[in-house]
Amino acid sequence: MKGINFASLRGRMVTEQIIRRGISDRNVVSAFKNIPRELFVPDNQRNFAYDDRPLSIGKGQTISQPYIAALMTSVLYLEKNNKVLEIGTGSGYQSAILSYLGAELYTVERIPELAEKAATVLNYLGFNVNIKIGDGTLGWHDYSPYDRIIVTAASEILPAPLIGQLKAGGRIVAPVGGKWQQELIIFEKTNEGLLKKTFVCGCVFVPLVGKYGYKK
Ligand code: SAM
Repeated sequence: MKGINFASLRGRMVTEQIIRRGISDRNVVSAFKNIPRELFVPDNQRNFAYDDRPLSIGKGQTISQPYIAALMTSVLYLEKNNKVLEIGTGSGYQSAILSYLGAELYTVERIPELAEKAATVLNYLGFNVNIKIGDGTLGWHDYSPYDRIIVTAASEILPAPLIGQLKAGGRIVAPVGGKWQQELIIFEKTNEGLLKKTFVCGCVFVPLVGKYGYKK
């Protein structure tokens, strides 16, 4: 869009919303400095792409607030070439961040129009992401097990198939709780298959709708 210096807005967003709030991992910071968030929002939202809040992406869905996307990315503790499953592709912004960080990414979105738009932008930026249209509460069995799983929509409890598709020693970050307010939780799978839970913060996500999530 003419007249707007997105690179400068992006730099300010990274400094004020991400680094100043305590996220210091150099790779995570670099990803948020380099991914053009304005390409992942609808034209009528571009001016607000770097605002400190979630934005509408249509179909009643949102692109998460930059800080929440950065926080979820940092608590995943990604290692190079990790196989990562993302549930809730949405705009594709979080997918771009994870791919930038070297993840082999599998992402599932239930709304075809969003998945298709996300695929177009990710391809345009040169990211090789595997996108499936379907119910992410079932995970994506064909490519399991995964080193990391990130869930970007909220459920009352963590969908059981996701636990089954996580490697021992792997971790899931997911918002879990009520429909209107949740807790962001890290679930770590021990070698014995037990889940260790760590609270990160309170949060608000759109509902995860599917067999092991909300019914509507
Ligand atoms: N990660 C996204 C981004 O960077 O734009 C934000 C995702 S948005 C907060 C949540 C997404 O989860 C929505 O696009 C919604 O359609 C999707 N969703 C909800 N239930 C789902 C399910 N069962 N399977 C896959 N996607 C689902």
